[in-house]
Amino acid sequence: MNPNPMGLLTVIACLTISASTGCAQSTTTTQAAPELTRADKVVKTDAQWKQQLTPLEFQVTRLKGTERPGTGKLLKVKAPGTFTCKCCDLPLFDASTKFESGTGWPSFFKPIDEDAIIDVVDKSHFMTRTENICSRCGAHLGHVFTDGPAPTGLRYCMNSVSLKFQPKSKSEDSAAQSSGSGSAAKQSSGSGSASKQSSGSGSTTKQPADKQPMTSPKK
Ligand SMILES: [Zn+2]
Repeated sequence: MNPNPMGLLTVIACLTISASTGCAQSTTTTQAAPELTRADKVVKTDAQWKQQLTPLEFQVTRLKGTERPGTGKLLKVKAPGTFTCKCCDLPLFDASTKFESGTGWPSFFKPIDEDAIIDVVDKSHFMTRTENICSRCGAHLGHVFTDGPAPTGLRYCMNSVSLKFQPKSKSEDSAAQSSGSGSAAKQSSGSGSASKQSSGSGSTTKQPADKQPMTSPKK
């Protein structure tokens, strides 16, 4: 009648958990590094990367390591902004596509640009997974799974140390300010002509002040 549904559920739950937490855990890999084809690709030696990165960042991004879940500094970031590559600053994910996956790694449902990330088949650890690397410098970022939320159904499970976060407020605000000051400058030039008007209307005492001035100063 009922073949022990709890046991079956337990097995399924275990499988699900191990799959969902199986994020970028490869430390050994035999796959050849895919060739970077971008015109602006960044190629450096291990020694150069080591100068630029912390040991953990180097281990994860250049040797395909994995940070411990729940330890990433960017895990809880919810502010608007852009997640870029730790190694080369290429924009990878918009903060609006980040979601709480419960895995302990920053998770996104869509890259900022289809060209930003390269998918690589990863057959390490007796699994076939899709590894994600930065298309500009080849940095190991994490893996993508197909159990993500709408609209893509994808879950980009990323190492926090592979990413940098650039809050939106700075660039956006400065852009808004500069455009704002631009219009303010226009206004002030407008008020300059207004002051001319007022001085003009001051001299033309015979005319009603609000009839003529709009047309005469423009000429
Ligand atoms: Zn990169």
